[in-house]
Amino acid sequence: MVIVLKSNSSESSIKDLIAKVKAKGLDVNVSQGSEHTIIGLIGDTSIILPEDLQSIDIVDSVKRISEPYKKANRKMHPGDSMIDVSDRIVGEGRFHVIAGPCSVETEEQIIEVAEDVKKSGATMLRGGAFKPRTSPYAFQGLHDEGIKLLLEAKKATGLPIVTEIMNLNHIDLFADVDLIQVGARNMQNFDLLKELGHCKKPILLKRGLANTIEEWLMSAEYIMAGGNSNVILCERGIRTFETATRNTLDLGAVPVIKEKTHLPIIIDPSHATGRSSLVAPLAKAAVTVGADGLMVEVHNDPAKALCDGAQSLDPTQFDELMQDIKRRVIFENKVLG
Ligand code: PEP
Ligand code: MN
Repeated sequence: MVIVLKSNSSESSIKDLIAKVKAKGLDVNVSQGSEHTIIGLIGDTSIILPEDLQSIDIVDSVKRISEPYKKANRKMHPGDSMIDVSDRIVGEGRFHVIAGPCSVETEEQIIEVAEDVKKSGATMLRGGAFKPRTSPYAFQGLHDEGIKLLLEAKKATGLPIVTEIMNLNHIDLFADVDLIQVGARNMQNFDLLKELGHCKKPILLKRGLANTIEEWLMSAEYIMAGGNSNVILCERGIRTFETATRNTLDLGAVPVIKEKTHLPIIIDPSHATGRSSLVAPLAKAAVTVGADGLMVEVHNDPAKALCDGAQSLDPTQFDELMQDIKRRVIFENKVLG
């Protein structure tokens, strides 16, 4: 981090500022220019907020040189992380397809979808039990009953299950869930992230609707700082001025994430587009751009779905997509599952 001082800064206020940063355990490199004095901070600057320095009256500007996330940073961990989800490895060389309905609705529904998606090659089963809905009058999920039904589907098919947590007090209900999802709306629920940092479960961290990649990685850092490095990222579209799709899928985030972090990233083309006809083209693009997997909503009868029917594939459409995805995965020199 570099601090540029205003041209008329007094000797004593410069000394005070240096003492302040040294008190945080950092070293300094002072360079006296003809106009400005520049102070370079040496050490772990993740503990310093640029805005705090900016509020000091002799400070003209503050610039971060290194990223504020450390554990998630590829510089600290050059190799790709492989995340173990109940003995299925997510990361370099593998491609996972997580498929299933937006919400768990009935035992018949979740077991039928689980069997169908498994037959087509899905490697994990998704299903929402706690649903973050914009309207308080919309279906909110079956809650603990939904998790029980997911566990039944897991017993029937052997597929690991992925479901969203909304409240940190529910963590005990997720004891048998293989991959815990943090939804877009909770990406910056810092108390929830801290709690998840204290468990050993793998976490699927979705990108917030209006969050930058740096903010997303800082949320991953919250989980990792607590001791849990089992984080998988999920890009699910962000809010832009465009209204033709539910969100705008930021496929460029995949190579950016690959540069900045060692964590795996998967793509959710269902929430990104909101329309079933757009899911397949973006799912295919996700394989090619280097994603480590997909999350796709599949419903046995999309027209009757209690949530997100318009973006859900039926089992036949999913099967067709999977035939194509399998070929692309091989072309990328990866293995499905
Ligand atoms: C979901 O996956 O069911 C979901 C609600 O997604 P998001 O948090 O991305 O909106
Ligand atoms: Mn959904």
